[in-house]
Amino acid sequence: MSTIADNILALAARIDAAASAAGRDPSTVRLLAVSKTKPASAVREAYAAGVRDVGENYLQEALAKQEELSDLALIWHFIGPIQSNKTRAIAEHFDWVHSVDRLKIAQRLSEQRPAGLAPLNICLQVNVSGEASKSGCAPDDLPALARSVAALPGLRLRGLMAIPEPTDDRATQEAAFAILRELQERLGLGLDTLSMGMSHDLEAAIAQGATWVRIGTALFGARDYGPA
Ligand SMILES: *Cc1c(COP(=O)(O)O)cnc(C)c1O
Repeated sequence: MSTIADNILALAARIDAAASAAGRDPSTVRLLAVSKTKPASAVREAYAAGVRDVGENYLQEALAKQEELSDLALIWHFIGPIQSNKTRAIAEHFDWVHSVDRLKIAQRLSEQRPAGLAPLNICLQVNVSGEASKSGCAPDDLPALARSVAALPGLRLRGLMAIPEPTDDRATQEAAFAILRELQERLGLGLDTLSMGMSHDLEAAIAQGATWVRIGTALFGARDYGPA
C-alpha cells in the first residue's frame, strides 16, 4: 500500500474519532485533499485510494494538473487568493471556490460562470484572527457581503471558510473555529458548509462543526516549497 493510501486511512480514523468525540456523524465531515506543489501522480494515487475532492491554491498549477488528470472524476476546489484577472479561468474550471472575500470577485465569478455549468459553490473566507491574517473579509463586513453574494445567479453560496493563526493550543484553535460557526449561525441564511481545519487542527475544527477539512501535509507529506 502506498504512503498516500496509508495517510488517507489514518486521516479517516482521525476524522471518525473527532466526529464521534463531538457527537457528530463522521459522514458529515468531508476530506478535501490539498495538492498544491504536489505532482498529478500524487493526486492519482489519492484518487485510487478514494479521494474525489481536490483543493488547489495556484491557478496555473491547478490547470496543468486538471489536464493531466482529465480521465478521473475529480471535483476541483480553488482555495487560494484570487486576483481579478484569474476569475474567468476559475469560473470555468472549478466546482467550488473557498476563498472569496470581496464582492467584486464574486460578481466576476458569477458573470463568468459558463451557462452550461451548475452555479459555482462558494465559501466566503473570513478573517477570524484579526491583525494576524491578511486574507478574508472582516467579521463586521460579512453579513452585507453574504447577502450580496447569495443573490448572484452564477453562484451558490454554501458557507464560510477560515484559516486561523496556527497554534498548538487546542482551546485557542477551537475558539477561532467557534467564531466562524457563530458567524454562520447569525447570518441565518441556511448555509450548510464550514470549510475549516487543516492537518494540525482538524480535530478542533470538527469539534466546532467543520464540514470540509482541507488537508495537505497529513495526506501528501511535507511540501518542499510554497506556502506553509
Ligand atoms: C495549504 C493549505 C491547506 C492545507 O494545509 P496543511 O497544513 O498542509 O494540511 C489548507 N487550506 C489552505 C487554504 C491551504 O492553503
